[in-house]
Amino acid sequence: MSRFIRDRIDLTEHPMILHCGTGRWPGSTGQRPVLQRNNSFVPASWRQAVAPALLLLTLVLFALPAVAQPQAREWRAGVARVKITPEKTMWMTGYGSRDHPADGTLQNLWVKALAIEDPSGRRGVLLTADLCGVTREITNQVTTELDKRHRLPRESVMVNVSHTHCSPFVEGFASGLRVFNAEDKKSFAAYRKQIEASMVQATGEALQKLAAATLGWGVDSADFAVNRRNNPEKDVPRLRAEDKLVGPVDHDVPVFAIRSTGNDVLGVVFAYACHNTTLSIYQWHGDYAGCAQEEIERRHPKAVALFVAGCGGNINPLPRREVALAEKYGRQLADAVDKVLGRPLETVRGPFRSAFAEITLGFAAQPTAQQLKVAVAGKTEGERAWATHLLSQLENGGIPMTYPYPIQAWRLGELSWVALGGETVVDYALRLKNEAGPKLWVFGYSNDVMAYIPSESILVEGGYEGKTSMIPHGKPGPWVAGLEGKIVGKARDLLQQVRAKP
Ligand SMILES: [Zn+2]
Repeated sequence: MSRFIRDRIDLTEHPMILHCGTGRWPGSTGQRPVLQRNNSFVPASWRQAVAPALLLLTLVLFALPAVAQPQAREWRAGVARVKITPEKTMWMTGYGSRDHPADGTLQNLWVKALAIEDPSGRRGVLLTADLCGVTREITNQVTTELDKRHRLPRESVMVNVSHTHCSPFVEGFASGLRVFNAEDKKSFAAYRKQIEASMVQATGEALQKLAAATLGWGVDSADFAVNRRNNPEKDVPRLRAEDKLVGPVDHDVPVFAIRSTGNDVLGVVFAYACHNTTLSIYQWHGDYAGCAQEEIERRHPKAVALFVAGCGGNINPLPRREVALAEKYGRQLADAVDKVLGRPLETVRGPFRSAFAEITLGFAAQPTAQQLKVAVAGKTEGERAWATHLLSQLENGGIPMTYPYPIQAWRLGELSWVALGGETVVDYALRLKNEAGPKLWVFGYSNDVMAYIPSESILVEGGYEGKTSMIPHGKPGPWVAGLEGKIVGKARDLLQQVRAKP
């Protein structure tokens, strides 16, 4: 397939301290109570009769501090992972230029879960997946099930995908990328069910493993992320060598670590704001994020590593297209993680709080039935797929012209996380972090990857992230102006909510 076609339809080318239970009541000395004995006025016969009861009472009193100790005032955490590498061959997603299904596995794909519980018993679950996208329908199905099974409220479950383009097609994601036959569509629906079941299973296992833990965090950096709108890909090696790369980027590698009471690293959550698109191969692979997770788990054998995709909508790992480069970038992230783990961490003290909202965003243009009928016989695979998808919507109740956009905020002691839906461009993270400081982390690709989320200026400029990427994502047209203000405004509201909650 020609470069021109690939560029048009490629999704990426364009651009506790532990407060351990001491067994003491608050304010006590921790010494066992001593039973005072004064026998001088008690007759010997009575003493004999009472002695066994007295002995029993003594034993009970001695035993009391151990039996009746209060709930330990500490954080608990558990991690789990479930393999999601497809058993059968399937079409891969991400690039519209692929012309045949996957032909093997180079690296396994995983769903991973981190369950946390604050000292008052409030629980949260972070689910990450080596997938290109996740849909609102999948997240809703999973969170409804988790509420039913574990009483986890919607706002306390966060889902993030790594955006690896070497993962399978999932029903409902990137509906305008390619036209598929009924058999293929059946496999995408079945894989969607497998993903939902895996997320529920991983959560159940992580909750079962909840145990006393120390949670801490820190931030390091890695510099392989390049703003792809501002630097032509072919020029990047030269521009890097000349220190002339331009455009906004976020090189932070935030690291959230979970250690056991024995100080073993049990879990590492780490994030990076960059498209997970080093590779365009035909084998399943987690790309640089998969390599980083494997490397961290190799260096810390008791740990599960969870990669969280940041706001890397307009950012690429450059140069790219070699497995060796994905491995190199993975090692760079693992090194950043180890640098943080080697320093004193900021300890999570304080409560877990969560908030979730959907705001309404609109689409600016609606194609007519006539336009779609022309496009359905269009020249490119992407054009045909987009028109086919929208015609199907038109015939089944109409093309939705608004979209419920998800925003989530978590508070972990002094640290806050904001999780934004879609392929959020880096400008969102930079703006929110600039306002709130280093104790805020901003994630993209969370809960629903429905489209690119351009900043207001990128929306006006257009190009791939501002306009034409709506085709592979199967949306009727660009977003209505004003989305950046709405998203940032609601993110601020939710942050205030989680910080104000007692
Ligand atoms: Zn993308």
